[in-house]
Amino acid sequence: MYGSDSDGLQAARAQLVSYSARLLDDGLAVGSAGNMSVRAGDRVAITPSGISYAEMRPEDICLVGMDGAELQSSETPSSETPMHLAIYAATRAGAVVHTHSPEVIALSAGRDELPAIHYAITGLGGPVRVAPYVRFGSAGLAASAVAALDGRSAVILRNHGAVCHGRDLAQAYDRALLLEWLARTYRLALSYGEPAILSAAELDEVTAESRRRRYGERRSGQP
Ligand SMILES: [Zn+2]
Repeated sequence: MYGSDSDGLQAARAQLVSYSARLLDDGLAVGSAGNMSVRAGDRVAITPSGISYAEMRPEDICLVGMDGAELQSSETPSSETPMHLAIYAATRAGAVVHTHSPEVIALSAGRDELPAIHYAITGLGGPVRVAPYVRFGSAGLAASAVAALDGRSAVILRNHGAVCHGRDLAQAYDRALLLEWLARTYRLALSYGEPAILSAAELDEVTAESRRRRYGERRSGQP
């Protein structure tokens, strides 16, 4: 989480602008679609509504309280602000990234879940649920996303996009890229027929081994 002092907020705003540009380059959104936010203490810095990413400046990033009150905003905060705030209220997230990326949207129209086509899905907490369709910007969508996020750091929104959260913007963004890659890989696998899917036990084994290796790295002083 960023500090809530002015230096922390300035850093958060600059990082949101730079990752917003990546959103287009990486094909995770088009135009001004999608949005992202970071938490700084009891405030949330969030991308504005209706400004193209190419033109967005750090001073355009909006600041809202955890109750949604606008604090320092020359622009209108993202229409999905209620969903971002609901995720912060329900999790320990430090950043939230919402994408309109084609692979997850295509999957959402035909599946209820992204299954474990590759063990890297443990980085998202396991198979990723598709939340039922609810209109953009609504409290219902926020509730639907939070419910489907249970135990996961990613959720796919039916006929809409996806949301990932992480301890910081870099992690949340990496998860959005991973999710899109997994959805594409699953679609490719379907072209060969019914794909083999990893079991819960196999995923648990991966999670345990990843933990063991991270623990070993910390003990030996490796980064
Ligand atoms: Zn959206």
